[in-house]
Amino acid sequence: LKFKSFLIIVFLCFLSNCQEKNASFIKIRGLSVKETELARNYIKEFEINNKVFSLLLEELADPGFELTIVFSDKVKIAGFSAQNDSSFDLYFKSLEEFLVENTILEEFFHAFQAKFYGYEKLKPNKKGIIKGAANFEYEARLMKTLSALYHDHSFSETPSQKGLLNFSMSLLDKSGKLSTFELDSLKHQQYIRLVLHFQQHWKKRNKQEKVKSIYDHPVDYTQGPDACFYLFRKLNEMKF
Ligand SMILES: [Zn+2]
Repeated sequence: LKFKSFLIIVFLCFLSNCQEKNASFIKIRGLSVKETELARNYIKEFEINNKVFSLLLEELADPGFELTIVFSDKVKIAGFSAQNDSSFDLYFKSLEEFLVENTILEEFFHAFQAKFYGYEKLKPNKKGIIKGAANFEYEARLMKTLSALYHDHSFSETPSQKGLLNFSMSLLDKSGKLSTFELDSLKHQQYIRLVLHFQQHWKKRNKQEKVKSIYDHPVDYTQGPDACFYLFRKLNEMKF
C-alpha cells in the first residue's frame, strides 16, 4: 500500500508539473498564500482559454528567464519594468486588478515586447522618455483586438481607440482570419495615424487628470506592430 501511494504521489507530481510547465518561470510577490494560489489558478485557466496568452507564456518561458509579478498598494496603474534581459517585473495594484483578462493579457504582452524588441527599447532615457512608448501601448491594443476577434469575443472601443476595430478588421481575410503579417506602406501610414490619435488623446487626458503616463510619449514613425504580427503568425502555424 505504501508503495502504491508513493507511486500515486509521484504520478500526481508529474501531472501537475506538466500542467505548470509553462508558468514555472513566474514568481509572485506581495500576496498571501491563498491569494497566490488564486492568481496561479487564474493564469492556468486563462492559459487554457486564450490561445494568445498561452503562446505568450510559451514565448516567455526560456531557461533562466524570470518574470516576477509584484502586488503593491503603491502601484497606481498596472505596469511593466525590466532590469535586464532575463528578469522582468509586472506590477499590479491588487489581485482584483490582476483577475481581469484584458489586463493580464496586456501586461504579459509588454513583457513579450521587451523580449522581442530588446528590453532597452522599453526603458526610459535620462529624461524619463520612452521613444515609441505610444507605439508599444497601441500595439498592445491592436493585439487585444485581434485576440478578441480570434476568439470571437466582443470588443468595445474606448474613445482613444477610435478606428482600431475597423483597422483590425481590415487585416482579416474573407474567412475572418488574420493572414497579413506585414503592413504595406499605406497600411503602415494608417497605423501610425492611429498611434498619433492615441498619443494625442492621452496628452489631453494626462493634462486634464494631472497624471503622468507613458501613453503620450513620442511616436516612433517607423515602429510597426511587429511583435503582435509575430505572435499571430505563430498562432496560425500551430495546430490545436
Ligand atoms: Zn500597457
